Amino acid sequence: MQTREPVTYLDNNATTACAPEVIEAMLPCFAGNYGNASSPHFLGRQAARAVASAREKVAECIGCSPPDVYFASCATEANNLVLLGVAHSQSVRRRVVVSAIEHKSVLGPCEALGAMGFDIVAVPVQSDGTINLAALRDAIDTQTLLVSIQGANNEVGTIQPVRAVADIAHEHGACVHCDAAQLLGKVPVSIDELGADFTTFSAHKAYGPKGVGILVERNRVKGVQIWPLQYGGGQENGLRPGTLNVPGIVGVGEAFRLCREHVYGDMVRTKSLRLQLENGILSVVPRARIVAHEASRLPGTVSILFPGVPADMLIARTPSICLSRGSACMSGTVAPSHVLLALGLSPDDARCVVRLSLGRYNTPGDVQAAFRCISNALEDSPEPESSQPLRQVTSVGFTEEPAP
Ligand code: PLP
Repeated sequence: MQTREPVTYLDNNATTACAPEVIEAMLPCFAGNYGNASSPHFLGRQAARAVASAREKVAECIGCSPPDVYFASCATEANNLVLLGVAHSQSVRRRVVVSAIEHKSVLGPCEALGAMGFDIVAVPVQSDGTINLAALRDAIDTQTLLVSIQGANNEVGTIQPVRAVADIAHEHGACVHCDAAQLLGKVPVSIDELGADFTTFSAHKAYGPKGVGILVERNRVKGVQIWPLQYGGGQENGLRPGTLNVPGIVGVGEAFRLCREHVYGDMVRTKSLRLQLENGILSVVPRARIVAHEASRLPGTVSILFPGVPADMLIARTPSICLSRGSACMSGTVAPSHVLLALGLSPDDARCVVRLSLGRYNTPGDVQAAFRCISNALEDSPEPESSQPLRQVTSVGFTEEPAP
């Protein structure tokens, strides 16, 4: 592997470093304890016990029972399994309702369902990124099978009122999926409090390994279930067959255990670092704007619009910081993010948004380094002639996180 200059990592919403404790827990599964969890012999039984223990740790962290927990290969797979699996399980209800700012791993299967004749309704969000509950009520009818709402947005960090959405959906007999990939490790998560029938997570967003997704099923709606999308050896109760990724699953167990232990401390630290970063940048670049600043946001996530400065240019000028742009590269062209457009930004402004996401291992030194680097990079960038006005940021500490 190539060695490179040290970097300041501020892209924790894309992926997190694997916690050292997670790596330590996984290592024996590659060397001595390499059995197949379905095998009847000693090594197999040892692997099965390790998987059972990981399932218990996941359940303990989020407040459900171990049999509610299924392992998949990533949150994308788990989201597909919920959306397509629920749709295939019945033929009566034909409408699926989502927020307009869902992740592509939800919007993609919705597109596929649309092509199969399902009626897909994308509910608009308000300028702070929260779903418009009045529009949601109007969108749900007696034909609605499933409502899918993310726990928090990966780009701007807005936390959604999942419980309120679930209550509205359940009133109409629809079931609810929550894509909670961005909640875990950043804020405490309780399956009961979310109130969703199906909740999905991604291990690599919460200091676990890449290659494991988690689906939690607590279905309250009769007549609806997830049908498997694959058939094989019957693992995971037949819902997601295939040889279990024992090292990854053991890593997930440890990652969830650590999230439970560290989440409150991580919240306080990342929020404090994020405020230092926001305030520092706003003090030297007053024309910068924080996207969705008035929302209840993830403690460590900030999306900043630097009017007239394309995100790609800023990223090229700050090679020692890992940050992300608010746009997706599709077929060689940079398309403005559907999330930013749904929040009311113009396509030009959406191309000038960068996302910085702090995590457990960031330090005040990282914030200083990022602040210096970004302000130097912006020093000689031109003032734009015009830019769509966003909400003016007037003070620090303007964001509110949900009570722990
Ligand atoms: N959902 C959200 C909100 C995400 O941010 C992501 C990843 O960026 C995913 C789902 C997909 O996660 P995975 O990489 O595990 O497929």
